[in-house]
Amino acid sequence: MKDTVIFDLIHEELDRQRKGIELIASENFTSQAVLDAMGTCLTNKYAEGYPGKRYYGGCEVVDKIEQIAIDRLCTLFGAEYANVQPHSGAQANAAVFLACLTPGDRILGFNLAHGGHLSHGSPVNYSGKVYEAHFYGVEQETGLIDMDKVEATALEVNPKLIVCGASAYARDWDYARFRAIADKVGALLLADIAHPAGLIAAGLLNNPMDHCHIVTSTTHKTLRGPRGGIIMMGKNFDNPWGRATKNGEKIKMSAILNSGVFPGMQGGPLEHVIAAKAVAFQEALQPEFKEYGIQVMKNAQVMADAFVQKGYKVISGGTDNHLMLLDLRSKNVTGRDAENALVRADITVNKNMVPFDTQSPMVTSGIRVGTAAITTRGFKEADCLKVIDWIDTILSDVKNEGLIIATRNEINAYMENFPLYAEQNVIA
Ligand code: PLP
Repeated sequence: MKDTVIFDLIHEELDRQRKGIELIASENFTSQAVLDAMGTCLTNKYAEGYPGKRYYGGCEVVDKIEQIAIDRLCTLFGAEYANVQPHSGAQANAAVFLACLTPGDRILGFNLAHGGHLSHGSPVNYSGKVYEAHFYGVEQETGLIDMDKVEATALEVNPKLIVCGASAYARDWDYARFRAIADKVGALLLADIAHPAGLIAAGLLNNPMDHCHIVTSTTHKTLRGPRGGIIMMGKNFDNPWGRATKNGEKIKMSAILNSGVFPGMQGGPLEHVIAAKAVAFQEALQPEFKEYGIQVMKNAQVMADAFVQKGYKVISGGTDNHLMLLDLRSKNVTGRDAENALVRADITVNKNMVPFDTQSPMVTSGIRVGTAAITTRGFKEADCLKVIDWIDTILSDVKNEGLIIATRNEINAYMENFPLYAEQNVIA
């Protein structure tokens, strides 16, 4: 019996994705090959453990797949160690904390209200419930992180682990300075590169692998893979936290991190997703992926400049990466109202707190805009300028239903020029 209810809804979602302009900074469109790898018989296989050391029989094939994923990921970022099993970015971070920290330990992360991620110590998350979380933030005037203040906070807090990385920070990270601060206070340094991972892999932004003890990421944002998480370590990691065994030898940090993922945080790995990760890593190793990353950044810069020209406040004045954060207070519209109006015109963005926001998280004063997904659709600078015009038209009159519908019709017609997933490949 065919489950028409669910498959009809999948088609409905495909239609939504095809017709609209996707500006959610954490989203992207995977290749058909990534989708194909995910929807396979690999989902049937239990494989607790790691390649060559499993708790189940019949893992010969998935062992090969997982090892290829690990090797490709190490090549992509210049890592020495990689774990491709985390089901998500939040679980990758939780696994690192579990592996490296003791409940009650102090951690120092980027303030969620300034653009950080909830898995970096927010009180509503595991990380903030189990560990004592402290935060650094951005300056109100500049929207930038002041590294001297990060150092002062680190000296005051004396954390065991410092997290750098964010969900809504448009600037590159000074990983070398973060490492110097971490060394000064004897902390482990974790970079969560979930957002800019694809741009780092393409060599377009600073690579944390040279400076940070541990690096986590998601695989589905700028990296353009399936939804999932990863953990990596750089080549010169000197195992400062490795635990001594009975005979005095140190357990390698890689083994400690692996045990944080399984059995610490998860059970069986999703081998179909790991296969899709491997496909995405191979794609990211190709020269075209660098071209893609360059275009993502060009599109973001053009959009940030155009917003500024139209009188919008772009936090930090622009962007170094694929995203920008807009403070809409000068336009007298909340993030929630902006998101709702834009979504009705088939432009998808998310409302977002801006630093020093005066609204609640469900209302917010801002929106976050990213270019990873539209660049995959084929948008160039001129297309991005059209998007800014559409956004500006709608935000100037968020209650004008006629205008919203007319804009949506225009957008739907425009998007027919940017096909997404060939018809013959779409599931029946
Ligand atoms: N880390 C950062 C910086 C993120 O932006 C996100 C998601 O947006 C995550 C972690 C969590 O990823 P996931 O949603 O896969 O758990």
